Amino acid sequence: MADQYTFADPTTLYADIDTKAISQDGSGLDSEMRDRADLGEQTYRGTGRLEGRKALVTGGDSGIGAATAIAFAREGADVAISYLPEEESDAQRIVALIEEAGRKAVALPGDITDRETSRTAIDETVAQLGGIDILVANAGRQQYVNEIADLTDESFDETFKTNVYPLFWMVKDAVPHMPPGSTIIATSSIQAYSPSSHLVDYASTKATQNAMCKALAQQLAPKGIRVNVVAPGPIWTPLQTAGGQPTDALPDFGEQTPLGRAGQPAELAPAYVFLASPESSYVVGETLNVNGGMPTP
Ligand code: NAD
Ligand code: MG
Repeated sequence: MADQYTFADPTTLYADIDTKAISQDGSGLDSEMRDRADLGEQTYRGTGRLEGRKALVTGGDSGIGAATAIAFAREGADVAISYLPEEESDAQRIVALIEEAGRKAVALPGDITDRETSRTAIDETVAQLGGIDILVANAGRQQYVNEIADLTDESFDETFKTNVYPLFWMVKDAVPHMPPGSTIIATSSIQAYSPSSHLVDYASTKATQNAMCKALAQQLAPKGIRVNVVAPGPIWTPLQTAGGQPTDALPDFGEQTPLGRAGQPAELAPAYVFLASPESSYVVGETLNVNGGMPTP
């Protein structure tokens, strides 16, 4: 594939990437995935769709956020990425790719479940990029638990603190800096409306994100700020290999979709570019499903 515009059969695309039964500790590293996820490093070709824009992408070190950060930079945006400090090595690789695209990169390590760290991520983006007009709230936590009896109060709390609170906090802190034309995009999930039995807490946070963004979209539209959502299906990322799914389920990961395979982060990036750029000017409160064909409401 030369670039994302290359004509190809979506059922056989990425047939060379094998979703393997690997298990990662902590929140997982892209660099330790075998096979590696495709972040579009070799293929994403920009056409100036985000010239001069200033973006913050949370969870921009790996997976969907990293593919989005690379695409944004190649479309002409300066990009700040926020991520957990233990994922510094992954983050530095993405920083280098943003800079190779000729854009400014800002690295923001820190745990955004902390209110002050979340606030600082917006403040630092504004200070170092000279403003913010794209916010991608994409950082997430997914830990599967089969039985409700084993889903601890702490884990339940951590999932909401990661997936819901920073979305609320960052929108609240970013909006005063955002000029009309700015765009906010959250990453929710097919889990929001088709929840798995072992993802009770996670699926609930994704439904919450969808509802929050539908409400915010209406509230912020009169200010000229568009809020939309991308809802991915099964995508090959460290989130899945670091406790997001049972390890023995990974070799079949994504095979239940009509396309019969897992998606790659590179296939998500164009959805974020579309929703971030002015070409989607009349798209507000939309959920763009990128899920290999699974039916959605
Ligand atoms: P990923 O692990 O590559 O990205 C998630 C990132 O979130 C991590 O890199 C991590 O640095 C960051 N993060 C997590 N907790 C954080 C915290 N407390 N503070 C700061 N950063 C934190 O995995 P991904 O699959 O690309 O996940 C991105 C988003 O996509 C998540 O919201 C996830 O729920 C969503 N999603 C993923 C899939 C999938 O199949 N992979 C499907 C639907 C939705
Ligand atoms: Mg990561």
